[in-house]
Amino acid sequence: MSRNLFRAYCRKNGDATPPVVPAQTLLLAFEESGILHDDKRLSKFFAALKKAPAELTESQFESLLEISPTLVEQVLTKQLAIPQFQDFCGHIADIFAEVEENRGGTLANYIPQLEKVDPEKFAVSVCTVDGQRFNLGDAEDYFCVQSCSKPITYCLALEARGEEEVHKYVGAEPSGKTFNELTLNSKSQPHNPMINAGAIMCGALLKSESLDASARFDYVMKQWRECAGQEKVGFDNAVYLSERQTADRNFALAYFMREKKAFPPGVDLLDALEFYFQCCSIEITTRAMSIVAATLANGGNCPLTGQQVFKPNHVKNCLSLMSSCGMYDFSGEFAFRVGIPAKSGVSGAIMLVVPNVAGFAIWSPRLDELGNSVRGVHFCRRLVETFKFHTFDSTLGLLDQRIDPRRNLYESRLSGVVAFCFAAAEGDVGEMRRLVAKGVSPDQADYDGRTALHLAASEGKLEAVKYLLDLHVNRASLDRWGNTALDDARRQGHQGVIALLSES
Ligand code: GLN
Repeated sequence: MSRNLFRAYCRKNGDATPPVVPAQTLLLAFEESGILHDDKRLSKFFAALKKAPAELTESQFESLLEISPTLVEQVLTKQLAIPQFQDFCGHIADIFAEVEENRGGTLANYIPQLEKVDPEKFAVSVCTVDGQRFNLGDAEDYFCVQSCSKPITYCLALEARGEEEVHKYVGAEPSGKTFNELTLNSKSQPHNPMINAGAIMCGALLKSESLDASARFDYVMKQWRECAGQEKVGFDNAVYLSERQTADRNFALAYFMREKKAFPPGVDLLDALEFYFQCCSIEITTRAMSIVAATLANGGNCPLTGQQVFKPNHVKNCLSLMSSCGMYDFSGEFAFRVGIPAKSGVSGAIMLVVPNVAGFAIWSPRLDELGNSVRGVHFCRRLVETFKFHTFDSTLGLLDQRIDPRRNLYESRLSGVVAFCFAAAEGDVGEMRRLVAKGVSPDQADYDGRTALHLAASEGKLEAVKYLLDLHVNRASLDRWGNTALDDARRQGHQGVIALLSES
């Protein structure tokens, strides 16, 4: 494989010297793939690349690759969750710019900390299941997670007690009411873990006998950090104090549950409430929250560390409930229109999980009347208008014109050499490189004797022609009509290509 990779990325400085791979070309390939320089999986690789000469010989290239062979190969052959990552990010940035204009909604005002946030704040971050990342807007700002803590608390309860035991105490049905409605289901249990009563219950189920309050909170923070690939996750004490002070409804919910004997034996009501307020007051950036979402998208395995934080079955349970109950009493509408598991919080955060593809975190503090971020919901709608991310989009087949970023663009339509010619005609050098790296021969012709060089020349794709010449393809090759690539370029009047192909 490393031979093919070298061939795909090398350049020849002249016939007398052996081919080399410019270090800059490699850096660019990583940048384009969305694998960021602070990615801990590649810290040794990036350190070595920094120290490497500007141009790497084949043996230098090989030893560099040996540091992290699997991931580097994945990047260089574009075998990542979203292969055309730059195109994908371009669309996300367009949606971001459009949604930013939306100034609808009002700030949450039940505690001063949320009331005094800058309403203009807006951030979107994405992390794929292969750890490709993209951050936009105020992605480094901290905000409290509020109800976005509920999926994680639920996963932790499942890890501690198992599905059967947890669901002896909490249901799995949307309540159809607001998140803090004073109501229980017909069995006198909270309707589900995504609303306040259910989250208070899940907290109470979490290791309550084996850990005291401080050890339990440390444990929860550790789990959050593990989900976030060891990014910083903080705690906002002022939010916590305000939550506690203004918590009449949450106290009422807990007393109501106690009256109905909903708690397991031995649960201390005040302790369970304290824990719930603490979870709401965890603070995070969208940058880190998108990694948490990606860990859920990846079956509980954090893409940036490879650590299995939650069991896949527990994540499946959690995503199912996020789908049906994650967006307050907008959940049914959201499942219908957007069709992606999500959880929102009154701080204006939304955590969105596209299973097996990516996690998104969106933060914009102005809320609609149901308590969901206005821009957040707007962003989600535009996302599925652009990409085939709705859970049931797969039923639409070819009629659907929207983008499926999961696909390897040309390879799925055509294969091998035809895919290569197609990419050349489009001037898509990244895709051409990927195919050469996979072993496609750049000299091969199709049924009509047309090579990639013919196609790139006909279409005036200068960069593609340059790349093919760097690979030393045969520029004299004739198609079935007896034409060379230069003949094609002349016929179409592509001056730049004519000049390149005429150089000896
Ligand atoms: N702290 C809030 C509450 O308990 C969290 C609710 C939310 O984000 N929906 O009311």
